[in-house]
Amino acid sequence: MAAITISELTKVYPGGVRALDALDLDVADGEFFALLGPSGCGKTTLLRTVAGLEAATSGTVALGGADVTRLPPGRRDVGMVFQDYALFPHMSVLDNIAYPLKIKKRSKADRHARAAEAADYLGLEGLGKRRPGELSGGQQQRVALARALVAEPRIFLLDEPLSNLDARLRLEARTFLKRLQKELAVTTVFVTHDQAEALALADRIAVMDKGRIRQLGTPTEVFRRPANLFVASFIGSTPMNLLPGRVEGDHVVAAGASLPLPDEARALAAGEEIVCGVRPEYLDYGDRPVDGAFAGRVSVVEHLGGSALVTLDVEGEPVHVVVGEGREPAPGDEGWALPRPGRVLLYRDG
Ligand code: ATP
Repeated sequence: MAAITISELTKVYPGGVRALDALDLDVADGEFFALLGPSGCGKTTLLRTVAGLEAATSGTVALGGADVTRLPPGRRDVGMVFQDYALFPHMSVLDNIAYPLKIKKRSKADRHARAAEAADYLGLEGLGKRRPGELSGGQQQRVALARALVAEPRIFLLDEPLSNLDARLRLEARTFLKRLQKELAVTTVFVTHDQAEALALADRIAVMDKGRIRQLGTPTEVFRRPANLFVASFIGSTPMNLLPGRVEGDHVVAAGASLPLPDEARALAAGEEIVCGVRPEYLDYGDRPVDGAFAGRVSVVEHLGGSALVTLDVEGEPVHVVVGEGREPAPGDEGWALPRPGRVLLYRDG
């Protein structure tokens, strides 16, 4: 049975913003699931509606098979960690962590023992008496996680849990979060607008736009085979090359290159206008003419550390190629970029 089943969920805010639009989603038991998408696409609204902090306009939310759409947050058995951690500033670390148990009216001894255990587990030993204001961002995040954990929720909801950390700490906290989630095997949904974070952490990702899911899949699926132009242009730290093309027999001609039509695109009619997508990572750069390569002149070379992003001007279209360290050309050079077999994607809706 799915841990979370969302059916036809719609949320229209007063004022008419349709933040969720008849959205369907199943999250499996024990899964680490990411909601990814641009600002305003409805990620936080979805999380808050699952938590019961927003009321659904229509549709249902079921947890472990039980319909909770009309239940208040306290009766849903979910733990939520907010972006700003929402710690109580006047309480000590241990009292913050123990708070959910106080609400559940557990004995003082039990509260203290469980909070101390959670604090140790999250590497907060020795900090129990401090106030949140006396902690680093990473430590505050761990207190928020510990507080959510002590209540042993069956579902964990995290809203941009790493966004307040600096780049180095973020990487560390990411690894920590992944290990924690696997150890506890608690179904976890987290919201992020950082695709590197989603790709690194999640078992599966839902890419959202305008209150709908545009693609649902593993990080590899979403990265390698974006289902549509929206996902193709959204995913990838160096954006995918998207070039206008035309089907000619069993080939596609785009930016002067003639590429074999992928098997799954055989049904496209000759003369059809399409968009040809290929990631900069999946192009091989060379300084000699090659059949089926994009030919152009190097306009920009950006060093990425370990590799370089080369921009070729191909018939007026910029084509980006990732080139290994030491092999980068100079601006003004002639260059050829050959797509690797099976790495060219075609889209109709462009
Ligand atoms: P971000 O990444 O910027 O946090 P998001 O994907 O989490 O964005 P939401 O916060 O869920 O997006 O917002 C979805 C849409 O609903 C946006 O257009 C937003 O302006 C609108 N919205 C959010 N909260 C409210 C509210 N309380 N009242 C009215 N409109 C709202």
